Amino acid sequence: MKNDVDNKLEQKNIKPTAMRKLVYEVLDKNKKALSLYEIEQQFDNVDRSTIFRTLKTFQDNYLIHSIDDGTGAVKYALCDEGCTCAPDDLHVHFLCNKCGQTHCLRDMPVPKMDLPDGFSFESANFVVKGICPDCK
Ligand SMILES: [Zn+2]
Ligand SMILES: [Zn+2]
Repeated sequence: MKNDVDNKLEQKNIKPTAMRKLVYEVLDKNKKALSLYEIEQQFDNVDRSTIFRTLKTFQDNYLIHSIDDGTGAVKYALCDEGCTCAPDDLHVHFLCNKCGQTHCLRDMPVPKMDLPDGFSFESANFVVKGICPDCK
């Protein structure tokens, strides 16, 4: 009998190893984006490079996306089910100036940009900064 996490990984063509399932669960239960360091803190005895490799596999298979919120640490968050990280799948991120947490605003797509002739859009890093509901 397969559980939900196995299915979630297999849907994205990721073989559900024990380590991958643990990293997935960490990302799933924290409803905000996490840095490599923050993910590492959730484990007792796991090598940082192992976690990094796991995240890389996840990212290559569109299970997670990375966010550069300007704080200097890349953060990671789960993608929506059908996400392929194409321009149409990109959403806005929100960095709270108080708690430093980065939230995915999944219902807010990155605004369409009218680029000058000759420029083609591939990706965007759209980070809004302010105060989150928890810190209000
Ligand atoms: Zn906050
Ligand atoms: Zn996001």
